[in-house]
Amino acid sequence: MKKLVILGGGESGKGTAILGHKMGYDVFLSDAGTISSEVKSKLDALGVSWEEKLHSIDRILAADIVMKSPGIPEHVAVVKQLRAAGVSIQSEIEFAAQHSKAKLIGITGSNGKTTTTLLVHHLLKEAGLNVGIAGNIGESFAQKVAEKNHAYYVLEISSFQLDDIQNFAPEIAVITNITPDHLDRYNDDFSLYVKSKLRIASNQRYNQFLLFNADDPVLIEALQASSTAAQKIPFGYTNTSPLGASYANEEIKIIEQKSTTMISTTQFPLQGRHNLLNAMAAVSVARLLDISKDSIRESLLSFTKVEHRLENVLKIQNRTYINDSKATNVNATFYALESMEGQTVWIVGGIDKGNDYSALLPLVREKVKAIICLGVDNEKIIDAFSPVVDLMVETQSMTEAVKMAHKLADKKEYVLLSPACASFDLFDNYEDRGNQFKTAIREL
Ligand code: ADP
Repeated sequence: MKKLVILGGGESGKGTAILGHKMGYDVFLSDAGTISSEVKSKLDALGVSWEEKLHSIDRILAADIVMKSPGIPEHVAVVKQLRAAGVSIQSEIEFAAQHSKAKLIGITGSNGKTTTTLLVHHLLKEAGLNVGIAGNIGESFAQKVAEKNHAYYVLEISSFQLDDIQNFAPEIAVITNITPDHLDRYNDDFSLYVKSKLRIASNQRYNQFLLFNADDPVLIEALQASSTAAQKIPFGYTNTSPLGASYANEEIKIIEQKSTTMISTTQFPLQGRHNLLNAMAAVSVARLLDISKDSIRESLLSFTKVEHRLENVLKIQNRTYINDSKATNVNATFYALESMEGQTVWIVGGIDKGNDYSALLPLVREKVKAIICLGVDNEKIIDAFSPVVDLMVETQSMTEAVKMAHKLADKKEYVLLSPACASFDLFDNYEDRGNQFKTAIREL
């Protein structure tokens, strides 16, 4: 029996254990931290052995294959020892893909992964394809493969999940954009992060497709240096190539080898230019799978909004409240500010991941009448924006932030939560932050 050792007992660890067990491996799961009781009982029910708060290194080194969870960085001792011993380390998507015959659509990028993944899934499902959704969104791909066999999977893939792939090659890969994020995991070296995103296409073959954002200079440059065999298809506002997707006059235009398809977006329910980019990518995937124009158009209209991403919460006394708690970096917040159609009270702050706020200055000058800093340390935000905004206040409570915002916003104006920062200083996660925002609004 082949020995599979799993490092980390989170979503991907649990999924790999379920699939590994089903495939007849001798599975052992080891986590240096604590494992949730839900995962423990699942492992116990399967009869999979596990340990927490330590790594039994001899047992780990005896593995035939090790699955390292994406959250575990390269520099920890156990990973170094495995590398030194030459043990094969795989990522969960690699392991899952080996045990699935499904056609894979893999979506990566710095921002827009979840939205694009949900959109693609919706377009394919509404067209009647037998399609599942997995990856960084909800349950892991491995767990889905163990429990259900779909003909297609749409996978949201983070750069960490790509770090340990060897043969993984989706039929269609999408890179939404590449902007600085998570640099702490890449030795503060942006080029390493860029490389890891491009890995999604590194094993693709000539009959597979790579859809890329043609508006993104970093991505274009990186692609020129990449050796992927995939057919590269651009999408974007500035796309002028004779192939791919572009947008003008409220229509997405898809040019293919033998046909051109125009799809109206006048009633597309998501706001913002960035969401039209996500739509261009999703529609391109659907066309590659031969989904009809009518089906695509109808499905775009019936797509429901995604929580915590430019989510219109309520209008109170003619002030509109928008929850963009998922904006945890500058680029996401850029698009949020860009899509505000009036003067805005902006709630921003949290844990700064090395942000450079300069790209926001013109938008802030034009649209933001007041800033409410919501973080433990707000110094960088105050320094960056005090030259362009007169009114800045600090708070460390969401209820207080919303009350202040309500006082500061006038009729027909907006209150936007788009933090550009991670949430862990004051909240459990971005969902908690967004939910507290919505509760505070309802209690006004
Ligand atoms: P991810 O899964 O990559 O984090 P999400 O779809 O959850 O992406 O969106 C994260 C944040 O980025 C939200 O604030 C959203 O409004 C913003 N966003 C979504 N799509 C894009 C895009 N194509 N470019 C820039 N920002 C985007």
